[in-house]
Amino acid sequence: MTPTRTHDADPPGPRRAPRVVARAAPRIALVLGGGGLKGFAHIGVLRALRERGIRPALVAGSSIGALLGAAHAGGVEDEEMAFRALTLRRKDLFRMNHYGVLVDRMRAASLYLPEPLRALVESVVPEGTFDDAPLPLLVNTVDVAHGTQVVWGLPGLRDVSVRDAVYASCALPGFFPPGRVDGRVCVDGGTIDNLPVSVAARNGGAPVDAVVAVDVGNADLTRDDTIHAQGFASIFMRSASIMMQALQAPPLAHWEGPPMLLVRPRVNHVGWFTFGTAEALIDEGYRATVEALRGLDALLAAPGGIYPRRTVRVTVDPARCTGCGLCVALAPRVMAQRGDGLAYAVSHDFSWSAADGGFAKSCPTQAIAVEAVGAALPATLAAAPALVPPDIVPAAATPALPLPAAIAGEDEGPAPAREVPPAA
Ligand code: SF4
Repeated sequence: MTPTRTHDADPPGPRRAPRVVARAAPRIALVLGGGGLKGFAHIGVLRALRERGIRPALVAGSSIGALLGAAHAGGVEDEEMAFRALTLRRKDLFRMNHYGVLVDRMRAASLYLPEPLRALVESVVPEGTFDDAPLPLLVNTVDVAHGTQVVWGLPGLRDVSVRDAVYASCALPGFFPPGRVDGRVCVDGGTIDNLPVSVAARNGGAPVDAVVAVDVGNADLTRDDTIHAQGFASIFMRSASIMMQALQAPPLAHWEGPPMLLVRPRVNHVGWFTFGTAEALIDEGYRATVEALRGLDALLAAPGGIYPRRTVRVTVDPARCTGCGLCVALAPRVMAQRGDGLAYAVSHDFSWSAADGGFAKSCPTQAIAVEAVGAALPATLAAAPALVPPDIVPAAATPALPLPAAIAGEDEGPAPAREVPPAA
C-alpha cells in the first residue's frame, strides 16, 4: 500500500498533521506467452519483477508461459527455475515414441512420449488445484474435442489439477499427446492464443489495472531462405509460429483493455527446441524487462494503450511498388492507394508500439520503409491518448520507444538458429 497525503477535508483553524490515506496498490496481470525453450526468458522477467518489488495480482500463461507462471504462482523462486533451466537436457523433455510411430503410424498420438514432459511439469509446478495456488493463475489450453479455448483458473474451472492443466498447455499438437483436464482433451493453448492478454485483463470479471505481457514467440521472424531443407520440425514450428503471431496481432492492434506494457525480449535467433541457451535467454528476459519497467509508473497513470511507443515515419518507394494493394488490405488506417495504384502512407508519422507495423513486412517487393524518428524516449505517458486505435494515433501525442528491430531497421541480432528435430 502506498501512503498518500491529503488536506482536502481539513477544517479551518490550526493546521493539523497531514492525514494519511491508504491507496491500493495497482493490480497487475502478468501474462507469459508461449515460445518453447525461448520461454526461459520468462525467468529473467520474474527476476526483474522481484528486484523491482512487483508482485502481480494474477499470472496467466500459455505453454512454457503456463509452466513457469504456474511455478511462480505456486511460490517457486526464480533462482530455482533458473537452476532447472540451466540443467535441463534434451532427454529430460524428448523421448521418441518409436513404437507408436512404427506400429500406429498416422494414428500415433504424437512423435514424443508424454512421460518426460509430465515429469518436468511435476518437478516444477506444486501439486494442487487452482484454489490452492497462493497467487491467482490462469492456464490457457484448447479443447480439441470441442474446438474451443479453455482457460483453467477462471470461475467454474478452478477445481482441477494445475499440473494437468499445465501439461495440456505445453502439449504441442503432434509433438506430445493431448492432456486430459477434468475430462476434457486439451492441447497447447498457443494453438489459438499464444499471449492470453484479453482473458487476463478481464480476469473473470475482476479486471486488473494494468497488464505486463511478455511475448517470446516469433514476433520479428527473420527471413530464412533455407527453411525448406531443415526438416519437419523446423517447417512445422516456423509455420506454427507464423500462425500464432497472425492470431495474436488483431487483439493487440485493437487493444481496449487497461494499459499494457508489452515486453519482447530479443529471442528470435533461438529455436523453439534449442538447448544450451538458457543462460543467455534468462539474461535477455531480464534486460528487456528492466528496460521496459522504466516506464511502469507512467504506464500505470495512462488510461489505456500499449507501451512502450515510438514515433515512426512510413514511406513507400514508388519504383518498387507494384500497386498490389496488400498493404492497404492489411492496414487500411495507415496505407492508401492513389488512382494509379501506387501506395502511400496516410500520414508521415505514426505513434506505434511493438505490436504495430507488422504489415510492412508483408509487402512483396519490400517497397515500404519504416524509420524510427529520433531516438527512443523514456515512457512519459501521461499525455498518451487512450483507446485510440494505435495505427492512427497522431505521432506528436505520444512518446516513443523501440519498434521490433526488424521493422525499425536496427540490428536483428544473430541469424535464427536452425530448428533441429530433437533426437530420440
Ligand atoms: S504491398 Fe507493397 S507493392 Fe503492394 S501496394 Fe503496398 S507498397 Fe505497393
